[in-house]
Amino acid sequence: MATVFITGAAGFLGSHLTDRFIAEGWRVVALDSFLTGAPENLAHLAGHDRFRFIRYDVTQYLFVAEPLDLILHFACPASPSDYLAYPIHTMKVDSIGTLHSLGLAKAKRARYLLASTSEVYGDPEVHPQPESYWGRVNPIGPRSVYDEAKRFSEALTMAYHHAHKLDTRIARIFNVYGPRMRVQDGRAVPNFMTQALRGEPITVYGDGQQTRSLCFVSDLVEGVFRLATSEGLSGEVVNIGNPEEHTMEGLARMIAEITSSQSPIQFRELPLDDPRRRRPEIEKARRLLNWEPVMPLAEGLCLTADYFRMKLSGDSRVQ
Ligand code: UDP
Repeated sequence: MATVFITGAAGFLGSHLTDRFIAEGWRVVALDSFLTGAPENLAHLAGHDRFRFIRYDVTQYLFVAEPLDLILHFACPASPSDYLAYPIHTMKVDSIGTLHSLGLAKAKRARYLLASTSEVYGDPEVHPQPESYWGRVNPIGPRSVYDEAKRFSEALTMAYHHAHKLDTRIARIFNVYGPRMRVQDGRAVPNFMTQALRGEPITVYGDGQQTRSLCFVSDLVEGVFRLATSEGLSGEVVNIGNPEEHTMEGLARMIAEITSSQSPIQFRELPLDDPRRRRPEIEKARRLLNWEPVMPLAEGLCLTADYFRMKLSGDSRVQ
């Protein structure tokens, strides 16, 4: 039986990936500090014989006694409001934490997959963004704690790949949404959902004409699972995201409609260095992984709205 070690396993993406690996018959050793992850995301796996949870901060020295076949480094605050609240810790998780998890992969001769981000492209001049684009990141702006740490993590991952012949893969993850995002997450989808369902004004930043391309979490999990488990992809960097692009004002209106909300749209100041456009080029994922997203945005938003409805009504069954 194969064992995967997942950092950030109690987070939004980490917990969905944990479920997927359990469903595929793997053993999962799950690590989380609960800085932004939540115990309820994994509560349904308590007592499962192929699941072990360790509450731990990946920036501390990592020791795992058992053999590991695969390591997924998904720990890191990922919402702009989180990484602004924890700027130094964000940098540590994606520098020291990446170093520790790569060191563990080297010691175990395990395959390693880094959760990177479309933020490595910054506010891009090339649109859509292919993996070959080097990006346009402000190294001292408010988002730099995340962007530059992820860029450092990518460089470190490639260094381990070249120097130690480690089998590595880098997933550049574009905007993802779905159940298990937190009410207080601060990103566009959870903010708009919460505001629409509560009948509060929907806060659109700037003129709302900036774009993002939103991938439902089940599609993301499928892409990452294929990247992690396919043979012959060592050293590859692959965009995982949905190439359908929407303005944030359009997204706000769609969420208001889906939730039958009367909430007005309220325009607020655009955060500094907020990328103007973002859309993945996914030809590489199509070619290497035979993967592309299948969930239509309207359907994914309905599923997400069901989750937020339960969350806001205080239903304890919600994970
Ligand atoms: N945004 C917004 N209202 C909100 C939260 C976010 O208009 O309440 C905008 C934000 O300025 C950005 C886009 O939505 O242009 C996506 O932001 P998010 O925080 O979801 O992720 P990002 O892609 O910026 O990391």
